[in-house]
Parts: sequence; structure tokens; C-alpha cells
Amino acid sequence: MDLKIYDTARREKVAFEPRTPDQVGMYVCGPTVYDKIHIGNARPLVIFDVLSRLLRSLYSDVTYVRNITDVEDKINARAKERGISIRELTETTAALFQENARDLGCLDPDIEPRATDHIPEMLDHIAKLIEKGHAYALDDGHVLFHVPSWSDYGKFARKDRDEQVTGARVEVASYKKDPADFVLWKPSDSETPGWESPWGFGRPGWHIECSAMSAKHLGADFDIHGGGIDLVFPHHQNEVAQSCCVHDEAERHDRFARYWMHNGYLMSEGEKMSKSLGNFYTVAELLEEFPGEALRLVLLKTHYRQPLDFTKDKCREAKAELDGLYRLVQEMADTPESAAPDDFRAALMDDLNTPLALAKLHEQASALNKGSGDAGAFRASCALLGLAAQDPEAWFKGGASDDDGAEIDALVEERSAAKKAKDFATADRIRDELKARGIVLEDKPGGMTEWRKA
Ligand SMILES: [Zn+2]
Repeated sequence: MDLKIYDTARREKVAFEPRTPDQVGMYVCGPTVYDKIHIGNARPLVIFDVLSRLLRSLYSDVTYVRNITDVEDKINARAKERGISIRELTETTAALFQENARDLGCLDPDIEPRATDHIPEMLDHIAKLIEKGHAYALDDGHVLFHVPSWSDYGKFARKDRDEQVTGARVEVASYKKDPADFVLWKPSDSETPGWESPWGFGRPGWHIECSAMSAKHLGADFDIHGGGIDLVFPHHQNEVAQSCCVHDEAERHDRFARYWMHNGYLMSEGEKMSKSLGNFYTVAELLEEFPGEALRLVLLKTHYRQPLDFTKDKCREAKAELDGLYRLVQEMADTPESAAPDDFRAALMDDLNTPLALAKLHEQASALNKGSGDAGAFRASCALLGLAAQDPEAWFKGGASDDDGAEIDALVEERSAAKKAKDFATADRIRDELKARGIVLEDKPGGMTEWRKA
């Protein structure tokens, strides 16, 4: 059984062959740590986590690298806005990101490089680009990649000259030799983070970090590069340009990475996610309402290249579905994992067809419910998807049980009655008691009170 993946660079599904037998290197662009991640950011996390699990089941030596962008102008602006230091903002945001990723059932990547730990590698990369005639430094401290210096520019993203210029417009400036040129290094002042460089005190542009860090941790020629579809242009096109121009042809691959994988867009409640529509969900707030595995399951129910409509209703359904899987796991007690069945594996091997794999998983579950089926194979299938991974008892305790629910309802009613009778001391005591048990109350207009687990 061959693993087939859709390669964005070639725009077709191809058989995957690692560069070195049994050894796979994968690099996925991670977050810019200026704010909490939203559910759209969670999609590549979960998709590439499943891919890494599948790869590990096939090859003995897999290195999964997922970077953290901790120097970027959005970070500077946000730190200023919040009146905290850049370091405090990036440290707390990165820690919350890692916690969210684990709550979504993602295994930690093997290497999680940070941009600010790789400034010397970036400086080296930029110096080589200048030396080879692909970049130029200006007196004001900017260094730019010169797009016309590389005739293959635009091929990867399939962007013609007009689109290249439009895409680079955010950075259009009088100092550019060509309107499509992009920034490798820019000058910093006392308000912005910076490092000494041959071109003055400054900081890197966004794209250069991924070229420098992938080369450092995986080599100039590696297997899979992934990210969201929105990164194809300009970010990944610029990575391809930088890396292909820096490394000699003999040591690198024509496409830079051999296989490029991109997950599709995510909508929320049927529309483009936006704060003004009220459908902008951070992972942290969704985790207050739903278990991480329910969010994970919603993200896996749509094929990764298709657009996905994320809704809270789907999270509720996913939670119920997982309850069913956990009941089976609970009944199986100590059955060890064996091998996932062929039809289940075949679905994942076909460009990570998770909706089909889930259908196969449910067939296994219904066989088990009927008293036939293979418990070890079911466990192995769950493990490949990263589902039903917790202790079933912990899972069922995660949401309040029915008995608890009735008791909480009664306490909430008692509090409402106390409030009506202006017995605020009792009302507050009940609120505090519930709070101590991790139950949050929300008073709604009209005297109704809703409760949820914090
Ligand atoms: Zn990147």
C-alpha cells in the first residue's frame, strides 16, 4: 500500500517516496505568537498531527518540525497596545498555544524552533543571497530579495507578474528596485526588537525564518512542507525562492521541499470568521465549552483540502459520537492495540482521507457493539486519528454526569429563589460553592440563569 499525497507544487496526487528510505523530515509553518489561536489555526495543527502519526506508523525515523514565529510587527504592535514587553507577550502566547495544541490531542512536534533563536542562521542565509546576486542591501538598513533575479519566481504559486506585484503591495515602497521584491531584513529603532547585522541594527522579515530553520533542522533537501492554503502565496513562494537561490542545485530539490501540502480554508457557522459576526472562536474559549477531542473530530470530518464549515452544533454531535467510542473503550478494558485494519489504513494512505477513515472506524465500532469485531484493531485505528486517547473515566467525568447536572440545577434554582427574596448572602454563597466545583453561572435577561463547566 503506497502513501499518496496531493502535492501543491505539482497540483496532483502523487506517490510519496521519502528522500532517504525509512527517514522522513516534515516542516509545518506554526503560529505568530501575538494572540490566542482561533479554530482556523487549529486545522493545520490537527491535520499535520494525524499525518505525523501515519508517517510514524510507516517509517522508523520521522522528524516533525513546527516553528514558532516570535518576531513580527504584529507582535510589536500588540505588546505596545497591551503595555507589556514583547517577551512577556510572546512567552505567554506561545505557552497557551502549546497547551491548546495538546488539548486538541496533538503530540508535540520533535522540534519547535523559535525565530529569535535562529538570527545567526538567517543572517548567514541573507548574506549568501546578496553574494549570489539575489538580494540587495540599501543604505537605510533594508535588505530585499530581488524577484527578477530568479526566473522561476511565481511558478510554485502559479502567480503571473501582475499577481506577484499585487501580492507584494503591502510592502510596496520607494526603496524597492522592483515592486515584487520582498523584505529579508529591516531596520529597527529603540522601540522594536533588533539584532546587530552587517546591514545595521535590525530584524528579519517573516519569510526568511522558515528557509533558515528548515535547512538547519532538516537539511537543504527534505520531504514534506505543510501549512494552510493561505500561505501558498506569498509566504511559501518566497520560501521556495530564498531556499532555491541559497543552496546549490546539487544539494537541494527543484521544489525546495519534495512534497507541499496545504489544508483548505475554514468557515465558521456558514460564514467567513469575523469578530463583528460573532462567529470568531478562539480555541481557548471553545475548550471551555467542548472537550478538545470533540473539536479535533469536527476538524477531521472534512477532508483537509476541502473548505470546512465549523459550527458549535457539529461540536455537540462530535461530543456525543466520542461518548459512543469511549463507551466501547471502557468495555474493552485492557485489550492491547493491534494493527489498524487495511480498509481503514487505505483511507488514510489515500491523501489522508479522514472522513472515509472515520466511516471505517464507525463500521468497526458497530461490529463491536454487535459482539463481533476486533477490539485491538479498533484501538489502533483510534490511536492513528488521535481519538479516544484519554482514560474513559476521565472522559466521562470531564462533562458533569446526569446526577451532578440535576443537583446543580437544584442549586441554581435555590439561588434564584434566594435572589428573588433578596437574600443575597445565600445567593452569593451558592454561587461561590458552585464556582469552587468548576461551575460558572451566567445570569440572562428575564431572570434565567445558565450554568456550564469552566
Ligand atoms: Zn513558514
